Amino acid sequence: MQGMVMDKKRQTVIFFFVGIAVMMVGLVWIISQNNTAVVHEKPTVVVSTFALYEVASRVGGDAVEVHSIVPLGSDAHLFSPNPTDVVKISHADLFIYNGGGFERWVEPLKQALPTTMNVVDMSTKVKLLGNDPHYWLDVDNMIRMTQTVDKACSILRPAQSAFFHRNAQNYIAQLQQLKQSYAQGLSACKNRVLVTNHDAFGYLAHANGLENITIIGLSSDEQPSSATIAHVIELVKTRHIKTIFFEELISDHVAQTIAQESGAGVQSLQPLENISEDALKSHQTYLSLMGENLTKIREAMECR
Ligand SMILES: [Zn+2]
Repeated sequence: MQGMVMDKKRQTVIFFFVGIAVMMVGLVWIISQNNTAVVHEKPTVVVSTFALYEVASRVGGDAVEVHSIVPLGSDAHLFSPNPTDVVKISHADLFIYNGGGFERWVEPLKQALPTTMNVVDMSTKVKLLGNDPHYWLDVDNMIRMTQTVDKACSILRPAQSAFFHRNAQNYIAQLQQLKQSYAQGLSACKNRVLVTNHDAFGYLAHANGLENITIIGLSSDEQPSSATIAHVIELVKTRHIKTIFFEELISDHVAQTIAQESGAGVQSLQPLENISEDALKSHQTYLSLMGENLTKIREAMECR
């Protein structure tokens, strides 16, 4: 039995590396076929998460064109670029990715990109907690991200640096307000335990002095063991937790099971990895969705 499990693991690892090798060869070929220089009137910035999309859009304003390569409404953890996406990235003036292990496809892609290309690994510009890549859920990190994008855009278009700087300052002021409303909103609560399905809210919990219990791991495709599920059900019962949070755009199957077994309610939180088409059309933003998250957390934790 043990041997079979090991063989399966080994097989998965082999498939993974063979997959990466095939992808590398493909990427080099695609990029070499599309190596004509493209001159953009407006610089194009390609990003990989919704938080980065918002920061780049707010700082760049109408002076840059921002594209998110992850399709709207999909689970960003499970994304990998197709040939069209690869061409789009290689033609961008600036490519910003989350890093910290969030995009498993980015390292092989980077090796295939032109060495002259402007690429920012945002995880090197923020404060990380261990190996958790969901750092944008700490508002202080959003401020660092905004400052980084301000600098990067100013290097691309020095003549517009004052414009980028002003946009960054305006956005940072709004982020400071958001941080303040979290501090006030979560200052007096009956319960300070945040139970979430996918381990995306560690930064939010840490920044606001909440305890975070999670069911599945750091990536949305991890599966909890039955022992983990039993343990969480026990915790929810003994600590009188009223709400289990699941994440929009991510499978909520396990969270629903635990809620049923423990008699708790369920509620959604937005981890801001991606956004649905409807939410974008109705002008939802990082700021507005974080505001909604706060309202839901306050209700679940019975905050005054
Ligand atoms: Zn996640």
